[in-house]
Amino acid sequence: MKFSAWLCVGLALLVNACAVPSARTNAYGGKLPTVTAKLPPEPTHLGRPSVLEEDEESAQANTSTPKTKKQDRTVRVLIVENSKSTYIKHSGRVNIYTQDLSKKYKISRGGTLSVKTHKNAQVQVGTLTSSQPVIIVPVDATTLEIDKVVYTGTLYVLPSKTSFSIIEYTPLENYLYGVLPYEMHPTWALEALKAQAVAARTYTLKSIEKKADEPFDLYADVRSQMYKGSTTVQDSIKKAVDQTRGQVLAYKGELFYTYYHGNCGGGTDHVSIWNQKAPHIKPLAGNTCKFDTHSKSYTFKQDIAKSTVERFTKSQGLKGTLKSIKVAKKTGTGRASYLTLKTSGGSKTVLCSSFRAATGVRSCKLTKITTGSTKVHFEGHGYGHGIGMCQDGAHGMAKQNYTYKQILKHYYPGSTLSQFR
Ligand SMILES: [Zn+2]
Repeated sequence: MKFSAWLCVGLALLVNACAVPSARTNAYGGKLPTVTAKLPPEPTHLGRPSVLEEDEESAQANTSTPKTKKQDRTVRVLIVENSKSTYIKHSGRVNIYTQDLSKKYKISRGGTLSVKTHKNAQVQVGTLTSSQPVIIVPVDATTLEIDKVVYTGTLYVLPSKTSFSIIEYTPLENYLYGVLPYEMHPTWALEALKAQAVAARTYTLKSIEKKADEPFDLYADVRSQMYKGSTTVQDSIKKAVDQTRGQVLAYKGELFYTYYHGNCGGGTDHVSIWNQKAPHIKPLAGNTCKFDTHSKSYTFKQDIAKSTVERFTKSQGLKGTLKSIKVAKKTGTGRASYLTLKTSGGSKTVLCSSFRAATGVRSCKLTKITTGSTKVHFEGHGYGHGIGMCQDGAHGMAKQNYTYKQILKHYYPGSTLSQFR
């Protein structure tokens, strides 16, 4: 994380204590308030993973005493994107500032704030109008609710010419409380949930590293990880996050994108078949999986409207009606890497991952494709891209008493469990 973004984060955390204005440039290229309260020491380097003791007991000791929240990284999540109007319900006191503190006011009890676009690329938050970002700070235990999702972090409302976006600044571990239940079922075995917590934490920190110069780190949907606020946390989720606090996966001392998916259908694959720009590293090169057959996602039959497929063939420059779809090339696990699409106007071979993204076919591990008059029928195995951790497989391993460390080593071979500092 670069200094400017870190400063921005540090100030966001401190803004509750913020009292006197002056200004500094922040990661948005705008101005941030400087505080009179003592700033935390300036970092000299990015956070780094350091290898954990391999021995189970010392690793457990390392994780059984969570560090204080002060040491949490802050995650910036885009929770409202290019909106013209919304409402924020606040359960109690809130402080509202423009970024340079030239305008500010406090609300001392619960209520509803309207947020809407205003003339000249401004945004109106309650009674405050501004062309700068507006910061809404919940005081004490106040929560902020937008579209029935409840947030506990500080909100930045960013105006643009004709709309605004809202970014939540929230501590990393709190953010994970709001991710885990939407990425893995809370009733699943704890070791699987812990593996998921480490994978999600690593993915998050890698995203922060990559997005330091941008106004947010992650989307709140499948473009990054599903996230729906972090107010009510189930026990299993809390345990999984807390017992792995700060733990990440690294390869050769660096964080990597710990991709994961629903069900690999009997084997994961090399990242290049799904994301050709991703680094070709051992943890993302694929592995066998014999732990996911219990899931209903292991085998699928799916009909997709022919018109949906033809929208895709058209986008690929193929005119006419769809005639057939055939697997052109498979990986060693049986996943189609390429498909050949044939229409009355011609044929073309495309990446199956592009086809899957456009049509919603559950997996590229296809065993049967039949083109009918109005529908295309698919049969196959798995659910998702098939790269990195197979979540059903993680659950299967946990049920067979494998630990989260063994699960992670299996699905990210060659990676090292590390403590992020
Ligand atoms: Zn699997």
